[in-house]
Amino acid sequence: MSEYIQPITLEEVAKECRSCKKCPLYLTRTKVVPGEGKAKLKVMLIGEAPGEEEDLKGRPFVGKAGQLLTKILQSVDIKREEVFITNMVKCRPPGNRNPSKSEIETCFPYLETQIAIINPKIIVTLGNVPTQYLLDTTTEGISKLRGRWFDWLGEIKIFPMFHPSYLLRNEGTFPGSPKELTWKDIKTLKRTIVNL
Ligand code: SF4
Repeated sequence: MSEYIQPITLEEVAKECRSCKKCPLYLTRTKVVPGEGKAKLKVMLIGEAPGEEEDLKGRPFVGKAGQLLTKILQSVDIKREEVFITNMVKCRPPGNRNPSKSEIETCFPYLETQIAIINPKIIVTLGNVPTQYLLDTTTEGISKLRGRWFDWLGEIKIFPMFHPSYLLRNEGTFPGSPKELTWKDIKTLKRTIVNL
């Protein structure tokens, strides 16, 4: 595990993130967004990076995409408080660009420590960035990987889904549309959580 494994509570990890200057994203952030949720939850949701609204508020998934994520969870009766929500990097990349590989690698020990504390059964990766990084692939994208289960570090299952911001850009509902597939995926996730 990482050099940051020393902090033993989520709040201690968050405190370290808030004063972090380890990658250039600290230069342009307003607030650090360490993540939200309690320890010992069964499910973690991991997106790519905070957006504008998140950067202003210091909370993950509170902008339009976040509101859609909340609705998607609520559609199968999962409350936000029942999952830990965070991102691959804790500071907003300028202009909402994807975080670079080096930024992700620099920030990863924080996420790794959060995962060690929470010890989830399932990690839902939202979109290409967390999915490809955690599954260590550059050749397969989210369209191929979503809705499938992957073993990770022996005990954790990874379940990739589309990022809600992608759904906002692709709103049509027709057989095979991102929205329809996400509806299918969230129902699969719910069925699995119920049986954990
Ligand atoms: S993104 Fe992560 S590594 Fe970079 S400054 Fe923020 S907390 Fe530190």
